[in-house]
Amino acid sequence: MSYDPSNIFAKILRGEIPSKPVYQSEHVLAFPDISPRAPVHILIIPKGAYTSAQDFSEKASPAEKIAFIDAIGAIAAEQGVTETGYRLIANTGTHGHQEVPHFHLHLVGGRALGSMLP
Ligand code: IMP
Repeated sequence: MSYDPSNIFAKILRGEIPSKPVYQSEHVLAFPDISPRAPVHILIIPKGAYTSAQDFSEKASPAEKIAFIDAIGAIAAEQGVTETGYRLIANTGTHGHQEVPHFHLHLVGGRALGSMLP
């Protein structure tokens, strides 16, 4: 799948749609999900144009990957969920029910989430 620059997260990255970043670095942006499923629901996205976790895994540079992993811990700490815990979700492709075709990780917490694996 080729990258569609009209997707909503690309528009957020270009500043065409407002967001309230909770974290930003050279390679990563994070902002609250517009439809939060828990008290903490942050979307973490690479600034690079990657369609999915698969695309990011295959094509991102080591620096982009390291920055992305670093962001997870920093955002969890900033959101105050390191002690209570949280869940990371990367919906990927059709079977993964990915709606926005720009790779993103959901960081969800702030309450007990229960078991989720299908
Ligand atoms: P997906 O199913 O993993 O692709 O989830 C996409 C997420 O993006 C959903 O949880 C939406 O609520 C969220 N979302 C869609 N548009 C916006 C927006 O403009 N700002 C923040 N989050 C959004």
